[in-house]
Formats: sequence, structure tokens, C-alpha cells
Amino acid sequence: MKIDDYRLVPGKRVRLDRFDPDDIALVPGGKKDGEKGSRRIAARLDKLQERLYAEHRHKLLIVLQGMDTSGKDGTISHVAGAFNPQGVRIKSFKKPTPDELDRDYLWRAHAAVPAAGEVVVFNRSHYEDVLVVRVHNLVPRSVWRHRFRQINDFERMLTETGTLILKFFLHISKDEQRVRLEERIQDSDSRWKYQHGDLEERKLWTEYTRAYEDALTKTTTDWAPWHVVPANAKWYRNYLIGSIVADAMERLRMRYPEPDLSAEVF
Ligand code: AMP
Ligand code: MG
Repeated sequence: MKIDDYRLVPGKRVRLDRFDPDDIALVPGGKKDGEKGSRRIAARLDKLQERLYAEHRHKLLIVLQGMDTSGKDGTISHVAGAFNPQGVRIKSFKKPTPDELDRDYLWRAHAAVPAAGEVVVFNRSHYEDVLVVRVHNLVPRSVWRHRFRQINDFERMLTETGTLILKFFLHISKDEQRVRLEERIQDSDSRWKYQHGDLEERKLWTEYTRAYEDALTKTTTDWAPWHVVPANAKWYRNYLIGSIVADAMERLRMRYPEPDLSAEVF
């Protein structure tokens, strides 16, 4: 198993039951090793982001999707926590407001994309418009079926204008979700996260899986690939996403700009 194996290949049909949510293949030593690795990655990410900010050229968009309790918030604390808060922005996608519903579904996503030198993390994203919207029939099939192409076009335009897009599907098992939902209900410190409707959504696991498989298949492109991240082990999820982001940023070969020192200051 190599890190690249977690990246989906365009044109290939995705079957999620072929991906093991318990997989920890790149860190066979387990949690301690993974956490040590994550600290090294955090130091790399910190330096890389400083360059991104200084160079003021590239833009980085990280998209996080996954079932309820799959660990989107935890990923944000760990991975985005490595960055300087001045250069990173988190955008969470909730149920659209009336104002948002009056526009096209990509409007609110476009309004939140990173500027030059900036990192933006989407906690959920425009993909909700082919996931929850599809599962709950919020718009008819004749409307959402065009969205895969529209999303690919939108993401291509962002890429062609300097945005690096990295998309992550946090893959947990249905059993792991039960454990995490029970924790939410029983643990007084995480009860606030429990939402009315979480158990109703869980009943739609199969429908969501189908919608995800379709979305992952149709929107994995050369310019904006999806990664399927085994996410039953939180430490492995953090390690893997951190590694993928750091590797991708390194490939940008960013440089600090020439210093603006004029002779007269000395
Ligand atoms: P949470 O991530 O737990 O804060 O919940 C956000 C909720 O907003 C989830 O239940 C999402 O499914 C829902 N949501 C996000 N985007 C949309 C959308 N475009 N249409 C309908 N519901 C959405
Ligand atoms: Mg929720």
C-alpha cells in the first residue's frame, strides 16, 4: 500500500465495500507511531503554509465529506490546527438559508473559495447538493443529475485559476457510527453534538452509501481527485490526510518572494 493508492482513479466505478475503514496499512506500528508521524507532518504543514502565504500565488481548497460522526470536525482540529490561523479559513456548509436557496447551489461555495495565499477547508461542501439533497429528494433527479458535470466544470475552472483542490471522503463503518452516536448520547461532554435526526439519517445509510459511490465515481477528475480515507481509527485518518496535504503542497515548489530590502535602511 502506498499513499497514492488512497487517491481514486478517474473513470473507475467506486465500490465502498472494497475499502476497509479499519485499514492502517501505512503505519503498521499503530497509534503511537501514527501520532509521532502526525507531529512531524504538522511541522511540515506549518512551514508549507507559511510559504503559501508569503508567495501569495497558489490557493488551497480542502474538501471534507463523510457520513455523520465520520470525523470532519476532528480532522479540522488536527490538520488545520497545524496551520497559522491567519492563513486558514474554515467554511461549514449547513442547510441552505432562504437567501442561498434563491441562488444556484454553487453560489455559496464559490463565495467561500480561497484567495491567493490562503487555505480554506470545506466542512461539508457543494457535494451536499448531490448527497443529502438526493437522498431526501429535495430536488428531482432531473435536476441533480446534471450537477456532477457542473461541479466538475466549476472545479476545473478553480484549478485553472490557481487553486489546488484536495477532496477527502472519511470512510467509517456502520458499526463505528453506532459506537460514536452512542458516545454522543452518553458522554455529557459530547452530547451537544447529537442532533435530532441523526438516528433517522443512520437509517438511510445504504441510500447515502449509494449516493456517495456515485458522487465519488463521477467527480474524481485529474484536476480534483477524491481520496478515500479509512477513518475508523482517528489517529490514522489524521496521519493520512496530513500526509496527503503536505505532499501535495510540496509538489507546488513554492518559494519565498525576494525580500524588499532597499539599501537605504542600512
Ligand atoms: P452538521 O455538519 O452536523 O453541522 O450538520 C449540517 C447539516 O446541514 C447536515 O445535516 C447537512 O446534511 C445539512 N446540509 C448541508 N448542506 C445542505 C444542502 N445543500 N441541502 C440540505 N441540507 C444540507
Ligand atoms: Mg450533525
